[in-house]
Amino acid sequence: MQLIDGKLVAQLAKNEMAAEVAEILAQGGKIPHLAAILVGNDGASETYVGSKVRCCEEVGFRSTLLRYPETLSEAELLAVVEQLNQDPEIDGFIVQLPLPKHISAEKIIFAIDPRKDVDGFHPVNVGRMVLNAPTYLPATPFGILQLLAHYRIETSGKHCVVVGRSNIVGLPMSILMARNTYPGNCTVTLTHSRTRNLREETLRADILIAALGRPGFVTADMVKPGAVVIDVGITRVPDVSKKSGFALKGDVDFESVAPNCSFITPVPGGVGLMTVASLLRNTLLAAKGGL
Ligand code: NDP
Repeated sequence: MQLIDGKLVAQLAKNEMAAEVAEILAQGGKIPHLAAILVGNDGASETYVGSKVRCCEEVGFRSTLLRYPETLSEAELLAVVEQLNQDPEIDGFIVQLPLPKHISAEKIIFAIDPRKDVDGFHPVNVGRMVLNAPTYLPATPFGILQLLAHYRIETSGKHCVVVGRSNIVGLPMSILMARNTYPGNCTVTLTHSRTRNLREETLRADILIAALGRPGFVTADMVKPGAVVIDVGITRVPDVSKKSGFALKGDVDFESVAPNCSFITPVPGGVGLMTVASLLRNTLLAAKGGL
Protein backbone atom coordinates (compact mmCIF):
# COMPACT_ATOMS: atom_id res chain seq x y z
CA MET A 1 0.00 0.00 0.00
CA GLN A 2 1.27 3.47 -0.86
CA LEU A 3 0.08 6.53 1.00
CA ILE A 4 -0.86 9.44 -1.26
CA ASP A 5 0.86 12.42 0.34
CA GLY A 6 -1.37 15.42 -0.26
CA LYS A 7 0.89 17.61 1.83
CA LEU A 8 3.86 16.90 -0.41
CA VAL A 9 2.00 17.32 -3.71
CA ALA A 10 0.32 20.52 -2.49
CA GLN A 11 3.71 21.89 -1.42
CA LEU A 12 5.22 21.14 -4.84
CA ALA A 13 2.31 22.94 -6.51
CA LYS A 14 2.73 25.91 -4.18
CA ASN A 15 6.47 26.07 -4.85
CA GLU A 16 5.76 26.16 -8.58
CA MET A 17 3.21 28.95 -8.13
CA ALA A 18 5.55 30.95 -5.88
CA ALA A 19 8.19 30.77 -8.63
CA GLU A 20 5.63 32.01 -11.16
CA VAL A 21 4.69 34.92 -8.90
CA ALA A 22 8.38 35.83 -8.56
CA GLU A 23 8.62 35.80 -12.36
CA ILE A 24 5.51 38.01 -12.70
CA LEU A 25 7.00 40.44 -10.17
CA ALA A 26 10.35 40.51 -11.97
CA GLN A 27 8.55 41.48 -15.17
CA GLY A 28 6.58 44.20 -13.40
CA GLY A 29 3.27 42.34 -13.75
CA LYS A 30 0.28 42.27 -11.44
CA ILE A 31 0.32 39.93 -8.45
CA PRO A 32 -2.67 37.52 -8.40
CA HIS A 33 -5.35 38.71 -6.00
CA LEU A 34 -7.99 36.39 -4.50
CA ALA A 35 -10.93 37.64 -2.48
CA ALA A 36 -13.01 35.43 -0.18
CA ILE A 37 -16.43 36.22 1.22
CA LEU A 38 -17.36 34.68 4.56
CA VAL A 39 -20.86 35.13 5.95
CA GLY A 40 -21.48 34.15 9.59
CA ASN A 41 -19.27 32.32 12.08
CA ASP A 42 -19.37 28.64 11.15
CA GLY A 43 -16.28 27.04 12.74
CA ALA A 44 -15.32 24.80 9.80
CA SER A 45 -15.85 27.63 7.28
CA GLU A 46 -13.59 29.88 9.34
CA THR A 47 -10.88 27.20 9.22
CA TYR A 48 -11.21 26.69 5.45
CA VAL A 49 -11.18 30.40 4.63
CA GLY A 50 -8.29 30.93 7.04
CA SER A 51 -6.21 28.30 5.28
CA LYS A 52 -7.05 29.74 1.85
CA VAL A 53 -5.85 33.19 2.94
CA ARG A 54 -2.72 31.72 4.57
CA CYS A 55 -1.83 29.78 1.43
CA CYS A 56 -2.22 32.93 -0.67
CA GLU A 57 0.41 34.56 1.50
CA GLU A 58 2.66 31.49 1.23
CA VAL A 59 2.81 31.70 -2.56
CA GLY A 60 2.97 35.50 -2.70
CA PHE A 61 -0.61 36.22 -3.85
CA ARG A 62 -2.62 39.07 -2.43
CA SER A 63 -5.78 38.10 -0.60
CA THR A 64 -8.75 39.99 0.78
CA LEU A 65 -11.12 38.43 3.29
CA LEU A 66 -14.55 40.06 3.40
CA ARG A 67 -16.44 39.06 6.55
CA TYR A 68 -20.12 39.69 7.11
CA PRO A 69 -22.49 38.85 9.96
CA GLU A 70 -24.99 35.99 9.71
CA THR A 71 -27.72 38.63 9.34
CA LEU A 72 -26.45 39.87 5.95
CA SER A 73 -29.35 39.84 3.50
CA GLU A 74 -29.32 38.12 0.12
CA ALA A 75 -29.63 41.50 -1.64
CA GLU A 76 -26.65 42.83 0.30
CA LEU A 77 -24.55 39.79 -0.59
CA LEU A 78 -25.53 40.12 -4.25
CA ALA A 79 -24.30 43.72 -4.09
CA VAL A 80 -20.95 42.58 -2.70
CA VAL A 81 -20.64 40.00 -5.48
CA GLU A 82 -21.37 42.66 -8.08
CA GLN A 83 -18.76 44.94 -6.56
CA LEU A 84 -16.12 42.21 -6.80
CA ASN A 85 -17.22 41.38 -10.36
CA GLN A 86 -16.45 44.99 -11.29
CA ASP A 87 -13.26 45.46 -9.24
CA PRO A 88 -10.27 45.32 -11.60
CA GLU A 89 -7.94 44.68 -8.65
CA ILE A 90 -9.57 41.30 -7.89
CA ASP A 91 -8.65 38.46 -10.28
CA GLY A 92 -10.90 35.85 -8.71
CA PHE A 93 -13.14 35.38 -5.72
CA ILE A 94 -15.02 32.75 -3.79
CA VAL A 95 -18.08 32.74 -1.59
CA GLN A 96 -17.47 30.28 1.25
CA LEU A 97 -20.28 27.71 1.51
CA PRO A 98 -22.53 26.91 3.27
CA LEU A 99 -24.39 30.22 3.36
CA PRO A 100 -27.03 31.05 5.99
CA LYS A 101 -30.42 29.52 5.18
CA HIS A 102 -32.05 32.81 4.18
CA ILE A 103 -29.58 33.21 1.28
CA SER A 104 -29.89 31.13 -1.90
CA ALA A 105 -26.41 29.76 -2.69
CA GLU A 106 -27.60 29.16 -6.26
CA LYS A 107 -28.59 32.80 -6.74
CA ILE A 108 -25.24 33.97 -5.39
CA ILE A 109 -23.15 31.55 -7.46
CA PHE A 110 -25.07 32.40 -10.63
CA ALA A 111 -24.32 36.11 -10.00
CA ILE A 112 -20.53 35.63 -10.01
CA ASP A 113 -18.78 36.67 -13.21
CA PRO A 114 -17.66 33.29 -14.67
CA ARG A 115 -14.27 34.85 -15.48
CA LYS A 116 -13.71 35.40 -11.75
CA ASP A 117 -15.37 32.17 -10.58
CA VAL A 118 -12.19 30.43 -9.38
CA ASP A 119 -14.25 27.85 -7.46
CA GLY A 120 -15.60 26.70 -10.82
CA PHE A 121 -19.20 26.56 -9.56
CA HIS A 122 -20.88 28.90 -12.09
CA PRO A 123 -23.02 27.07 -14.67
CA VAL A 124 -20.88 28.43 -17.51
CA ASN A 125 -17.79 26.89 -15.98
CA VAL A 126 -19.59 23.66 -15.09
CA GLY A 127 -20.79 23.46 -18.72
CA ARG A 128 -17.29 24.03 -20.01
CA MET A 129 -16.02 21.26 -17.73
CA VAL A 130 -18.64 18.84 -19.08
CA LEU A 131 -17.61 19.69 -22.65
CA ASN A 132 -13.91 19.31 -21.78
CA ALA A 133 -13.26 22.95 -22.71
CA PRO A 134 -10.73 25.08 -20.79
CA THR A 135 -12.29 26.18 -17.51
CA TYR A 136 -11.77 26.67 -13.80
CA LEU A 137 -12.17 23.13 -12.51
CA PRO A 138 -13.85 22.84 -9.10
CA ALA A 139 -11.02 22.80 -6.58
CA THR A 140 -11.55 19.47 -4.82
CA PRO A 141 -11.96 17.30 -7.93
CA PHE A 142 -9.11 19.25 -9.60
CA GLY A 143 -6.91 18.48 -6.58
CA ILE A 144 -7.77 14.77 -6.82
CA LEU A 145 -6.82 14.72 -10.53
CA GLN A 146 -3.46 16.23 -9.60
CA LEU A 147 -2.89 13.56 -6.95
CA LEU A 148 -3.68 10.77 -9.43
CA ALA A 149 -1.35 12.34 -11.98
CA HIS A 150 1.48 12.90 -9.51
CA TYR A 151 1.48 9.21 -8.54
CA ARG A 152 1.02 8.22 -12.21
CA ILE A 153 -1.97 6.12 -11.24
CA GLU A 154 -3.41 4.32 -14.27
CA THR A 155 -7.00 5.38 -14.87
CA SER A 156 -7.74 4.41 -18.47
CA GLY A 157 -10.31 1.63 -18.71
CA LYS A 158 -10.60 1.40 -14.94
CA HIS A 159 -13.88 1.28 -13.09
CA CYS A 160 -14.25 4.36 -10.91
CA VAL A 161 -16.99 4.47 -8.29
CA VAL A 162 -17.82 7.82 -6.73
CA VAL A 163 -19.89 7.87 -3.53
CA GLY A 164 -21.76 11.18 -3.19
CA ARG A 165 -23.21 13.42 -5.91
CA SER A 166 -22.85 16.95 -4.55
CA ASN A 167 -22.35 19.79 -7.02
CA ILE A 168 -18.95 20.61 -5.55
CA VAL A 169 -17.38 17.15 -5.26
CA GLY A 170 -19.14 13.94 -6.33
CA LEU A 171 -20.92 15.08 -9.47
CA PRO A 172 -17.99 16.96 -11.08
CA MET A 173 -15.62 14.16 -10.01
CA SER A 174 -17.71 11.62 -11.89
CA ILE A 175 -17.69 13.78 -15.02
CA LEU A 176 -13.95 14.39 -14.87
CA MET A 177 -13.09 10.72 -14.41
CA ALA A 178 -15.14 9.85 -17.51
CA ARG A 179 -13.47 12.44 -19.78
CA ASN A 180 -11.36 11.31 -22.70
CA THR A 181 -8.07 12.44 -21.18
CA TYR A 182 -5.63 11.60 -18.39
CA PRO A 183 -6.55 11.26 -15.60
CA GLY A 184 -9.86 9.99 -16.92
CA ASN A 185 -11.12 7.44 -19.44
CA CYS A 186 -12.72 5.53 -16.59
CA THR A 187 -16.02 3.74 -16.65
CA VAL A 188 -17.79 5.64 -13.91
CA THR A 189 -20.54 4.72 -11.46
CA LEU A 190 -21.97 7.62 -9.48
CA THR A 191 -23.64 6.49 -6.25
CA HIS A 192 -25.67 8.31 -3.59
CA SER A 193 -28.03 7.76 -0.68
CA ARG A 194 -30.66 6.06 -2.89
CA THR A 195 -28.22 3.58 -4.40
CA ARG A 196 -29.31 0.00 -3.77
CA ASN A 197 -26.62 -2.41 -2.59
CA LEU A 198 -23.93 0.23 -2.35
CA ARG A 199 -21.43 -2.38 -1.20
CA GLU A 200 -21.94 -4.32 -4.46
CA GLU A 201 -21.08 -1.15 -6.39
CA THR A 202 -18.05 -0.11 -4.32
CA LEU A 203 -16.64 -3.64 -4.51
CA ARG A 204 -16.40 -3.23 -8.29
CA ALA A 205 -14.24 -0.11 -7.98
CA ASP A 206 -10.64 -0.04 -9.17
CA ILE A 207 -10.72 3.59 -8.04
CA LEU A 208 -13.07 4.43 -5.17
CA ILE A 209 -13.74 8.08 -4.37
CA ALA A 210 -15.68 8.62 -1.14
CA ALA A 211 -17.34 12.03 -0.70
CA LEU A 212 -20.38 11.58 1.49
CA GLY A 213 -19.52 13.16 4.83
CA ARG A 214 -20.05 10.08 7.03
CA PRO A 215 -16.93 9.38 9.08
CA GLY A 216 -15.58 5.84 8.70
CA PHE A 217 -18.46 4.81 6.40
CA VAL A 218 -16.34 2.86 3.89
CA THR A 219 -15.12 -0.29 5.59
CA ALA A 220 -12.75 -3.04 4.39
CA ASP A 221 -15.58 -5.32 3.24
CA MET A 222 -16.65 -2.62 0.73
CA VAL A 223 -13.29 -2.33 -1.01
CA LYS A 224 -11.76 -4.60 -3.65
CA PRO A 225 -8.20 -5.67 -2.79
CA GLY A 226 -5.69 -3.51 -4.70
CA ALA A 227 -8.11 -0.61 -5.23
CA VAL A 228 -7.07 3.04 -5.22
CA VAL A 229 -9.02 4.80 -2.45
CA ILE A 230 -9.51 8.56 -2.38
CA ASP A 231 -11.09 9.87 0.82
CA VAL A 232 -12.65 13.30 0.41
CA GLY A 233 -14.57 13.32 3.68
CA ILE A 234 -13.69 15.75 6.43
CA THR A 235 -15.90 15.59 9.51
CA ARG A 236 -15.17 17.07 12.90
CA VAL A 237 -15.65 14.42 15.59
CA PRO A 238 -15.28 15.15 19.33
CA ASP A 239 -11.82 14.20 20.67
CA VAL A 240 -10.87 15.24 24.18
CA SER A 241 -7.20 14.46 23.55
CA LYS A 242 -7.03 17.36 21.05
CA LYS A 243 -6.58 20.98 22.12
CA SER A 244 -9.35 22.00 19.72
CA GLY A 245 -11.66 19.36 21.23
CA PHE A 246 -12.19 17.62 17.88
CA ALA A 247 -10.39 15.44 15.36
CA LEU A 248 -10.88 15.34 11.59
CA LYS A 249 -12.20 12.06 10.24
CA GLY A 250 -12.52 10.87 6.68
CA ASP A 251 -15.31 8.84 5.08
CA VAL A 252 -13.04 5.80 4.92
CA ASP A 253 -12.23 3.59 7.89
CA PHE A 254 -8.51 4.01 7.24
CA GLU A 255 -7.29 1.35 9.70
CA SER A 256 -9.25 -1.50 8.12
CA VAL A 257 -9.16 -0.34 4.49
CA ALA A 258 -5.54 0.81 4.05
CA PRO A 259 -3.77 -2.58 4.28
CA ASN A 260 -5.57 -3.96 1.20
CA CYS A 261 -5.36 -0.92 -1.12
CA SER A 262 -2.74 -0.07 -3.70
CA PHE A 263 -3.00 3.66 -2.90
CA ILE A 264 -4.94 5.60 -0.28
CA THR A 265 -5.24 9.22 0.86
CA PRO A 266 -5.07 9.93 4.59
CA VAL A 267 -7.33 12.40 6.44
CA PRO A 268 -5.97 14.87 7.23
CA GLY A 269 -3.00 15.19 4.88
CA GLY A 270 -4.69 14.06 1.67
CA VAL A 271 -7.32 15.71 -0.49
CA GLY A 272 -7.98 18.76 1.73
CA LEU A 273 -4.59 20.36 1.18
CA MET A 274 -4.87 19.86 -2.56
CA THR A 275 -8.21 21.67 -2.61
CA VAL A 276 -6.61 24.90 -1.47
CA ALA A 277 -3.64 24.50 -3.83
CA SER A 278 -6.08 24.01 -6.74
CA LEU A 279 -8.01 27.14 -5.84
CA LEU A 280 -4.74 29.05 -6.02
CA ARG A 281 -3.97 27.51 -9.41
CA ASN A 282 -7.31 28.77 -10.70
CA THR A 283 -6.58 32.21 -9.27
CA LEU A 284 -3.19 32.30 -10.98
CA LEU A 285 -4.85 31.32 -14.25
CA ALA A 286 -7.42 34.12 -13.79
CA ALA A 287 -4.64 36.63 -13.08
CA LYS A 288 -2.76 35.56 -16.20
CA GLY A 289 -5.70 36.54 -18.36
CA GLY A 290 -8.13 33.76 -17.68
CA LEU A 291 -9.34 30.96 -19.90
P1 NDP B 1 -23.01 16.77 0.64
O1 NDP B 1 -23.62 16.58 1.98
O2 NDP B 1 -23.37 17.94 -0.19
O3 NDP B 1 -23.27 15.47 -0.24
C1 NDP B 1 -23.16 14.20 0.30
C2 NDP B 1 -23.49 13.18 -0.75
O4 NDP B 1 -23.30 11.89 -0.18
C3 NDP B 1 -24.93 13.25 -1.25
O5 NDP B 1 -24.94 13.09 -2.65
C4 NDP B 1 -25.61 12.09 -0.54
O6 NDP B 1 -26.63 11.50 -1.30
C5 NDP B 1 -24.47 11.11 -0.39
N1 NDP B 1 -24.68 10.23 0.75
C6 NDP B 1 -24.99 10.59 2.02
N2 NDP B 1 -25.14 9.49 2.77
C7 NDP B 1 -24.95 8.43 1.97
C8 NDP B 1 -25.00 7.04 2.16
N3 NDP B 1 -25.27 6.50 3.36
N4 NDP B 1 -24.74 6.24 1.11
C9 NDP B 1 -24.46 6.78 -0.10
N5 NDP B 1 -24.41 8.09 -0.35
C10 NDP B 1 -24.65 8.92 0.68
O7 NDP B 1 -21.45 16.70 0.92
P2 NDP B 1 -20.17 17.30 0.12
O8 NDP B 1 -20.01 16.64 -1.19
O9 NDP B 1 -20.17 18.77 0.22
O10 NDP B 1 -19.01 16.78 1.10
C11 NDP B 1 -18.78 15.42 1.31
C12 NDP B 1 -17.65 15.27 2.32
O11 NDP B 1 -16.47 15.82 1.76
C13 NDP B 1 -17.86 16.05 3.63
O12 NDP B 1 -17.24 15.34 4.68
C14 NDP B 1 -17.12 17.36 3.40
O13 NDP B 1 -16.68 17.96 4.60
C15 NDP B 1 -15.96 16.86 2.59
N6 NDP B 1 -15.36 17.87 1.72
C16 NDP B 1 -14.00 17.87 1.70
C17 NDP B 1 -13.33 18.75 0.90
C18 NDP B 1 -11.85 18.68 0.87
O14 NDP B 1 -11.22 19.63 0.48
N7 NDP B 1 -11.25 17.55 1.24
C19 NDP B 1 -14.04 19.75 0.08
C20 NDP B 1 -15.48 19.61 0.11
C21 NDP B 1 -16.10 18.68 0.92
P3 NDP B 1 -28.00 12.26 -1.73
O15 NDP B 1 -27.60 13.17 -2.87
O16 NDP B 1 -28.89 11.17 -2.15
O17 NDP B 1 -28.46 13.02 -0.53
